Amino acid sequence: MAKIIGIDLGTTTSLVSYLKNGKPEIIPNKLGKRLTDSVVGIDKYGSIIVGEEAKRILNGTKIEEIKRFMGTNKIVKLENKEYSPEEISAEILKKLKEDAEDFLGEEVDEAVITVPAMFNSIQKAATIKAGEVAGLKVERIISEPTAAAMAYGIDNMEKYQKILVYDFGGGTFDVSILELDDGILDVIATSGDNYLGGKDIDEILIKNIPVKIEDDIEKVKLKLEVEEAKKRLSTLMGTDIIVPELNIDYELKREEFEELVSPLVNKTIDFIDKALSSAKLKREDIDVVLLVGGTTRIPLVQETLKNIFGSKVKKFADPQEAVALGAGVQAGIKSSEISSEDGLIITDICNYSLGVASIGEYQGIIMPDTFSVIIPKNSNLPCTKSATYYTATDNQTSVNVKVYQGENKLAYENLFLSEFEVEEIPKNKAGAESIEITFGYNINDILTVEAKILSTGISKSIKIELNSKNKGNQEKKGSTYKNSSYYSEYKIIMEMAEDKMSKLSGKDKVKVSSILEKMKEMLVSENKEELDKLDSTLTDLLFEV
Ligand code: ADP
Ligand code: MG
Repeated sequence: MAKIIGIDLGTTTSLVSYLKNGKPEIIPNKLGKRLTDSVVGIDKYGSIIVGEEAKRILNGTKIEEIKRFMGTNKIVKLENKEYSPEEISAEILKKLKEDAEDFLGEEVDEAVITVPAMFNSIQKAATIKAGEVAGLKVERIISEPTAAAMAYGIDNMEKYQKILVYDFGGGTFDVSILELDDGILDVIATSGDNYLGGKDIDEILIKNIPVKIEDDIEKVKLKLEVEEAKKRLSTLMGTDIIVPELNIDYELKREEFEELVSPLVNKTIDFIDKALSSAKLKREDIDVVLLVGGTTRIPLVQETLKNIFGSKVKKFADPQEAVALGAGVQAGIKSSEISSEDGLIITDICNYSLGVASIGEYQGIIMPDTFSVIIPKNSNLPCTKSATYYTATDNQTSVNVKVYQGENKLAYENLFLSEFEVEEIPKNKAGAESIEITFGYNINDILTVEAKILSTGISKSIKIELNSKNKGNQEKKGSTYKNSSYYSEYKIIMEMAEDKMSKLSGKDKVKVSSILEKMKEMLVSENKEELDKLDSTLTDLLFEV
């Protein structure tokens, strides 16, 4: 029987594992390394290369951090050929599959792949698609913190405990709170930032070096050097960043480094508190804190967490391997090498609310397009929930069911997923006919929506499999701004503005909301210059009002 592998398809690095005698093991790549850089490039002979060799390409023919664009319509170019994010991710997966087959000496055609906790359904669907393009049947998608907790839990399963997974990687930061009870692992809250990681630390260090960079080649050289220096500072108290071609010979002490990065580390603590408050827990309620991701090797990160959580902070032998090891455990459960009866069972949660547009109250006004949530955010998956709606007008014979995903009170401000028409409602007085809408959401992100006319029993249902058609809608509805690589820079001010809106009225409200809308547009078109201007206008305005 062909083997199932577990894959951590990371923004920066990717890893593969498999189950060997009941324990997950990392599969090294053909270079003998356990980590494969998530970089795709073209060598001078025109062939696609993946990994370390691609990362070291100095001119423009390589693509990094494609994971940031999963689920968007972004097109990237390698030489003259255009690729979708799924196709580039598929190249990485193909390489991981080949290396695994080479190591195992047998064919591999199934995988469990991990994704960040905050990935929405479209991003997950794009990941499944990438797997298919690479010739892998994706058995299951699990969230990275869940996988890490599984890798930890496998040796400590008997005890009831609340686990906080702190995953600080190269491109993303995720915090999740999980409950482990009698072998059942349950995610109870997630928070984080898809745009906060080691790369942002590298950028801060680059900005701190007094040098003018002339071209892309210089920039790449400096980036590679700075990242290595940063890694050295995790064990040394000081280091030199030397790039002879750029006349750089710069000494960086651990102390200065820590001053520069502490704002980012503090940001991650805010996310911990957010996750705790959404789980209705206090810091003291957590039993174990797991450090995951390469950036947790930084001593300041470890110390900051130890100051808060003391000896509850646990490290993996290698924080970059935890997620892949957990994916390997899950792959083992799938292939029945580990029985789910004596192994771990994971449940997943729905990260976004799902619902329909309906007539409802918004800021004291009855409106046609309010968002009526059927499956609330953080519900356990799989999950089935229903709500009943009534006809709004006399002799109404049909109703249009519009399905959305998101947290906004107005339906159209959320991500539009699909719609369908329910007909043949018996003619009757307004409010006399009722339609029951049932949402069923399974662990692989297939949403079934059924609408049933209760008086006749006639029903109609659709399955929402998220595909390229939905992505187009996402673009139109303007929700893609959160996928912009600049979003993290403006996130705080935008969220402040959104919070403040409810307390504002009249002109102030109009001003704030129009700047916010403009910023969302500029995020989609990635117009940084305009964004900076809007950001400072908005900051001033919020200060005034
Ligand atoms: P991702 O999950 O985003 O793919 P990883 O968990 O593999 O990322 O972490 C990659 C990040 O970890 C990179 O930014 C890298 O520079 C950083 N990193 C790796 N080793 C160290 C170290 N010793 N000290 C500090 N940062 C490190
Ligand atoms: Mg990771």
